[in-house]
Amino acid sequence: MIPKTEINDILREYDRKNITVGTLGSHSALNIFKGAKEEGFNTVCVCKKKSEIVYKRFPLADQILIVEDFGELLDDKVQEKLRQENTILVPHGSFNAYIGTRNIVDKLRVPLFGNRELLHWETDRETQREWLKKAGLTLPKIFENPDDIDGLVIAKFPGAMGGKGYFIADSPESFHKKAKDMLKRGHITRENLENIHLQEYVIGVNVYPLYFYSPLTREVELLGMDKRYESTVDSIGKIPANEQLEINVNPTYTVVGNFPIVARESLLPELLRMGENVVEVSKQIAPPGIIGPFCLETVITDDLKIYTFEISARIVAGSNVGIGTSPYAYLKYGEGMYMGRRIAREIKNAISNNELEKVVY
Ligand code: AMP
Repeated sequence: MIPKTEINDILREYDRKNITVGTLGSHSALNIFKGAKEEGFNTVCVCKKKSEIVYKRFPLADQILIVEDFGELLDDKVQEKLRQENTILVPHGSFNAYIGTRNIVDKLRVPLFGNRELLHWETDRETQREWLKKAGLTLPKIFENPDDIDGLVIAKFPGAMGGKGYFIADSPESFHKKAKDMLKRGHITRENLENIHLQEYVIGVNVYPLYFYSPLTREVELLGMDKRYESTVDSIGKIPANEQLEINVNPTYTVVGNFPIVARESLLPELLRMGENVVEVSKQIAPPGIIGPFCLETVITDDLKIYTFEISARIVAGSNVGIGTSPYAYLKYGEGMYMGRRIAREIKNAISNNELEKVVY
C-alpha cells in the first residue's frame, strides 16, 4: 500500500492554484468533468480511442490522453504526466473494474480524491457485508451452498460485471438447471460459478440513495436517488405470461441506464440515518473512513422495510441522473449542484482551507 506520507509528499510539490481534476473516460466522467469545470479546475481525461468522440462532443476535458487500455493508467509515463499537471484523480466504477483495487492501492502514485482502502473493501462481498452489518442495516440472507436454497435467491458473481449473468432460482434443482443454461449461453464462466454468491431475493422496488460525506463539514448529504434500467429484467413485463413460459425467459440484469427517483418523505429519516451509520463504521474499519460520494443499493418492500444489498464507496453512475440538479441537491444547495460538482467543490474548499490532505489519499 502506498503510504499516505508519500501522497502528501506528491501534494506538497503540487501548484494548488493550478489543480487538474482527472479521471478515466467512462462511467461518470462527464459528470465529474462538468463539476470540475464549474468549480474552475482544469480537467484531463484518460481515454480509449473508441470513446474519444464522447469527450470531443461534450467538450469538458481540457486534455485527452489516449491509451490502448485503462490499465495504462499505471504506466510510469502516464502517472508522471498526470503529476506534472497537478492532477487529483476521481475514481469511479471503471477504476475498480479495469485497474483493480489492489493495483490502485499499491501502484497508483497519483493523488486520489477519496479513501483508497475503502474501494478495496467495496469489491469484496464478505468485507462489504461485515461493514453494512456493523452499521446496523438490514441485509438479505446469504446461502453458502446452492443445495441449501429454500426460497427465492439471486445468484451473483464477483467483480463489477454490471449485473451481467445474474440469475434467479428458487430451489437447488432450478439453480443447477439455470446455471447450466447461463453457461451454455455464454453469460457466465465455470470460474464465475465457483465464486458464486447466493442472496435472498427480496421482493420490492430498488432505490439507490446517493450520498456525499464531507470530512470538512462532517456532514452526510443526500444528493440524489436513482434506480436502474436493466436488460433484460425490465423488459419481462412487456411479454405476456403465457409467452414468457413458452420461451422460458431467464432474466439478466445488465445495467443500460438509470432513472431519477424521489422517495416518499417518510422514508428519509431512515435513509439519512443509514448513510450516517455507514460513514461512522467506515471510520473504524478503514480510517479516516468515507471521503466524498457513496451509494447504498437497496430494495424496499411493501411494508417499507429497507434491505441493503450492496455499497459503492465512490461515485456511482446512477448519480449521472442528477447532472445539473436533483430535487435533493436542490433542497440543500439551490440550483446547479450534483455529485461531480460536489466533489470539485470539496476539493476547492479543502484547498482554500489548506486541508487538501484531508480529502486526498
Ligand atoms: P447488483 O449488481 O448487486 O447491484 O445487482 C443487480 C440488480 O439485481 C439490482 O439492481 C437489482 O435489480 C437486483 N438485485 C440484486 N440483489 C438483489 C436482492 N437481494 N433482492 C432483489 N433484487 C436484487
